[in-house]
Amino acid sequence: MASDTDAGSQSERKTAIHERHADAAETVVPEQLGLYIGGEWVESASGETFETRDPTTGEVLASVAAGNATDIDTAVAAATRAFERGALESPATREQLLETIADRIEGEQNAFARLDVLDNGKPITEAQADAYLAAQHFRYFADIVPDDEQTPVETGGSGRVTTVQEPYGVVGQIIPWNFPLLMAAWKLAPALAAGNTVVLKPAEQTPLSALKLMAEIDDELPDGVINVVTGFGPDAGEPLTTHPDVRKLAFTGSTAVGKQVMKNAAEDVTDVTLELGGKNPIVVYPDADMETAVQSTIIAIFYNTGECCSAGSRLFVHEEIKEDFLDRLVAAAEDLTIDDPLLDSTRLGPKVSQAQRDRTLSFVEKARDAGASILTGGDVPDDGALSDGCFVEPTLIADIDHDHEAVQKEIFGPVLEVFPWEEYGEMIELANDVEYGLASGVITSDIEQANRTARDLEAGTVWVNQYNDFPTGMPFGGYKQSGIGRERGRETLDHYTQTKSIDVSL
Ligand code: ADP
Repeated sequence: MASDTDAGSQSERKTAIHERHADAAETVVPEQLGLYIGGEWVESASGETFETRDPTTGEVLASVAAGNATDIDTAVAAATRAFERGALESPATREQLLETIADRIEGEQNAFARLDVLDNGKPITEAQADAYLAAQHFRYFADIVPDDEQTPVETGGSGRVTTVQEPYGVVGQIIPWNFPLLMAAWKLAPALAAGNTVVLKPAEQTPLSALKLMAEIDDELPDGVINVVTGFGPDAGEPLTTHPDVRKLAFTGSTAVGKQVMKNAAEDVTDVTLELGGKNPIVVYPDADMETAVQSTIIAIFYNTGECCSAGSRLFVHEEIKEDFLDRLVAAAEDLTIDDPLLDSTRLGPKVSQAQRDRTLSFVEKARDAGASILTGGDVPDDGALSDGCFVEPTLIADIDHDHEAVQKEIFGPVLEVFPWEEYGEMIELANDVEYGLASGVITSDIEQANRTARDLEAGTVWVNQYNDFPTGMPFGGYKQSGIGRERGRETLDHYTQTKSIDVSL
């Protein structure tokens, strides 16, 4: 139980956290909180707004325009006009625009980082990394802007065949709340590089950094090239997925909504890429370097407070080293600093919302009810300074059936489940025994063993002796129900263009 002195210092820390966040909000919350359509800031058609809150303090950060189907219509019309007047026709214009966006993000890196801390709750060091990576991502696509040349193709016929890659036109993009700025960057850069215009729908929990991005680039952005409609999924997201003038959809979010997006896309045979959930395995071999194994696992499950679709959330550790490894892992998890995410020393911030915190804790509760052992965590932190926030302790669970719902479903929080293994085939079968196939990790000193395991795992990405590494240009996307298509890589441009074959009789 907290002593009076503890309680006193906790209450002082709580006051300091509130003040720190209020000060930061005053400097970084953007002034423009309307919809950004056709280069103008406008109110929503309904006049309605919604509040976005700081998950560390529970305070309202801003009231943002709540878009609906009418706003989506207006935004798609603006994007269509921009496409039809050829705003992005020239590859040189596209390259220049992407470089400018990168420059502007870099110039405002600290402000973007602090804004995402306030809106999402992620630790500041990680938000800094997001802003850095977002700028790099725009530069990467600036470097590989496709030209609009016709490429000769060898065929069996006598005509002269060339192909040309053409943009779709208007692209609808829907992004989640876990990496607000970075997910906007992942989506926007390849779409623009390929010459499309965009309507972007940020997540309702974290709309602010997309709005700030528009404010930062407004003077250089041709009207209608990017349009941002904030609002709720069913009101603003759904109409984007059913709009007949949207020629391509890109969605990142839950598998359940992803399936609905795909069904809606089918109505008009709209091309769609999906980046969905994950319940990703990490395999630890007995020959693993212990420190690498522990640190990789910590990064796998606790980076971004576990709010990563790539999070390594099922650990398969070999029996031979299980005891020693788990002792070290528990100690490392308990060593992580849970605190105000605006502090450089913080490793775990709050979850994005109370609903998400409660969802995470309910999975832990169900695991507990089923007789699982909670090796550490499993609750909210016992720290009065954090009691206004949506914090959850780093949690390790053992002795749980692999079929249990807490194992099969994506928790999207700082919760790792542990499974000891001895026989390779059985372990691989279990590692693959989920509906997802997004990412995975292998920790071993034997590179052949690493490659064999990598090939046997059903996952779009396999990290070996590390986790959550995202070098610019490495494709990312899912097997099975984790999605369709790859983001971040050169091939992403294929998802934003269509091939036209021109066959000339000579
Ligand atoms: P989560 O459950 O983690 O919030 P979602 O898949 O619900 O994940 O949300 C991801 C994004 O999808 C958000 O921008 C959200 O507003 C949007 N969204 C939610 N429901 C729909 C829907 N029915 N149609 C289109 N977009 C939606």
